[in-house]
Amino acid sequence: MRLLLTLFTFISVFLCNQMLFAQTEPFCGSTMQAHEQLMEENEEYRQRFKKWQKLIKPIIKARNENKNPDCTNGPLLVPVAIHFDAGIVPAGQEQCAIDVAIDHIQELNLEFAGLDVDAPLINQFTACFGANILGNACLEFCIGTVNHPPGYGLVDGDYAVTFNQVSFTIPSGNFTPVNSDWDEYVNIYVDNLPGGLLGVSNGIPGNFNGDGVLLDNCVFGTGAISCPGAQFTGATGCFAAVDEGEVLAHELGHYFGLFHIWGDNSGCSGAQDQIADTPDMASSYSSYLACGSHITCSDLPQTCGTEDMYMNFMSYAGNACMYMFTSNQSDVMNATAVTEGYTTTTTKCGTPPLADFTPFGAYELCNTDCIDYTDQSLNNPLDWDWSFVVTSGDIVLDITTSILQNPTVCLTAGVSGVIETTLTVSNSIGTTMKTQTLDVSYGIVRTTYADVDNDTYGDPNDVTIDCDFPPPGNVLNNLDCDDTDPNINPAAVEVCDGIDNNCDGTIDEGFALNTYYADADMDSFGDNNATIMACVAPPGYVTDNTDCDDTDADIFPGATEICDDIDNNCDGNTDEGLPLFTYYEDADSDTYGNPAVTIQDCSQPAGYVSDDMDCDDTDPNINPSTSELCDGVDNNCDGTIDEGCVLEDCDGDSLIINTITQNTNRAEFNVTSEALVNNGQSILFTAGTDINLDPSFEVVQGTIFEASIIPCMSAGFDNDEEIISRNLSDFEKLSEEVYTLFDVQDIVTLIIINKDGKIYYQNQTDLNALGKVIDDETKKLKEGFYVINILAGKKSMSQRIVITN
Ligand SMILES: [Zn+2]
Repeated sequence: MRLLLTLFTFISVFLCNQMLFAQTEPFCGSTMQAHEQLMEENEEYRQRFKKWQKLIKPIIKARNENKNPDCTNGPLLVPVAIHFDAGIVPAGQEQCAIDVAIDHIQELNLEFAGLDVDAPLINQFTACFGANILGNACLEFCIGTVNHPPGYGLVDGDYAVTFNQVSFTIPSGNFTPVNSDWDEYVNIYVDNLPGGLLGVSNGIPGNFNGDGVLLDNCVFGTGAISCPGAQFTGATGCFAAVDEGEVLAHELGHYFGLFHIWGDNSGCSGAQDQIADTPDMASSYSSYLACGSHITCSDLPQTCGTEDMYMNFMSYAGNACMYMFTSNQSDVMNATAVTEGYTTTTTKCGTPPLADFTPFGAYELCNTDCIDYTDQSLNNPLDWDWSFVVTSGDIVLDITTSILQNPTVCLTAGVSGVIETTLTVSNSIGTTMKTQTLDVSYGIVRTTYADVDNDTYGDPNDVTIDCDFPPPGNVLNNLDCDDTDPNINPAAVEVCDGIDNNCDGTIDEGFALNTYYADADMDSFGDNNATIMACVAPPGYVTDNTDCDDTDADIFPGATEICDDIDNNCDGNTDEGLPLFTYYEDADSDTYGNPAVTIQDCSQPAGYVSDDMDCDDTDPNINPSTSELCDGVDNNCDGTIDEGCVLEDCDGDSLIINTITQNTNRAEFNVTSEALVNNGQSILFTAGTDINLDPSFEVVQGTIFEASIIPCMSAGFDNDEEIISRNLSDFEKLSEEVYTLFDVQDIVTLIIINKDGKIYYQNQTDLNALGKVIDDETKKLKEGFYVINILAGKKSMSQRIVITN
């Protein structure tokens, strides 16, 4: 590194000196003087230069013996990378800069191959320079496209071009265009160089270690492409005299071992350029432009006694006068490349493209006036350039050129003729072209039909309209009614199989037809109402027609009749032969049935029950499971109304009859008509009188009373009514009263009821034991009000008591 810095420092110093006396003169920094000073001061450079001289000598000798250049195996490929310093390419112009680079490298390759557009001018001077003076270095520079160094955002297919990523300045000593990332390339560093400096090579020859040449942006490009905002060759403010991009060839000449042709020496002595076939010269021909009048050797200027070769790329002549390397210069450059290991292949630039395309030759258009060209080029071309030229016939083309990879060319009329098509393809390292002719005619369009079953009859629904006659797998007729079965076609014989075998539109014609019945439920019995006529039973049809339900596989003649309200066996009867039971209507849904409304069935119908015990089927609260209420209704259907109930004694000493109906033992009534009541004996009651009834009396059967209600005087107990507590002495006192009341009766009936009439006790007892019985029985009662009723013969008395525990 220290040595390299020394080299650049030296160059910088040299440049500054030149600037002092040649400020307006475009010039190059790689001079003989710079070289000699390095040889003197830089041991590494001296060793490298001497080694290089030794290495190239045998190669040059070999080239000369072979009447160089020998490019039979193709040029040596030299991958290059291009690095733009910050501020050189405006944002958004990167692709344009790449396009400029591609164009410049293409021009560079022509120059190194002796193919500069002006190179044939050298043949005007064969008398003084010899017939074989024009050289071909057999080098081809290619901008890398694959296997880029990592870290620069470049992928395969990108050009090896960087923007603002490799930093360098000139000439302050920071010019360090050596980047080991890029040591497999010859690098072209582009920057805005000061003082009219156009370029410099990093050594004669270069070190091939990631260095390269530095080029002023004003001489970058050939001038054929301009990028807005970028000052490349041809831009305003740049140097018209060197406006053709040949400075790059000059600097790369240095890099591959060439000195300036005049040896950077204003005299004719000295080492000059150390190239045998270049003349000694004492002038650089700096920006020399007056060369157009030189057409013979005698026209050429002479500074050292022989004709000066200002047209050499290694002079300082203006670009318009500069167009060639000599054969010996080419030898040196080629030999340098060989010693640096360059070969005809490189892993950096991909492979040159090989142009190819289709179609070509005879070409029949069918159903279209357009031709689709398909690129078949090899080795990844990056650009395509098509040209289409009609060479015979009256064809009119819609386009004559295209840059698409796969263009389509349309003819405006169905006219036959010949089109000559040329495809030029290029990538970063080469360009090839291919020309082929297309003999265009129009085919006859035919309609054909697919014959998939290969029975020579076509499917009318599978149509191909094409010029082929017919295309593979197709036939001209469309008579097949089933193209999946080779046995079905118009030539087939109709057989009885439910199929139109011969495609005449009729199935099984000529065969006797039978009636078949649908068997949708697959129970082998058919539906009499769903028939079809056929010579054989089609799938899903049977000869039977006796199914009475073709939706249910369990219903058919002979099936077992079950109790389900359905005619299971199709005999026209429902649930026949099954045991029947009597069911009773349960209209009030209390699970007890009405004995008056019955139905006979094999199973219990809805709304019916097997019970027949409901005495009122309109009221769910009246049935045998209900408790009897004291409401004048037979709630529990036992045939008795309000059994267990007694009427309340409204006035405390008698019962008032309201209505007496048969078997009623309730209440005291005011009789409104004469009636016969039996409580063991027949009693005639007179209408309008109060009557007393024993609780157990019965109305004689068949007697009806008309009675009017006498409301109770009070629903509860009167406050002033005597209430005895449960105290034996009280009840003994009560017994005395009772005894007094009932006089000689020694047997009485004791009844204990609550105020709702519920009887808690009813039995006969000895009058003497009455108090004891009342005491014993009332002890069993809960707290509350009760009535003690004592009966003896026709007499009775009631006493209210309150039980307090
Ligand atoms: Zn130079």
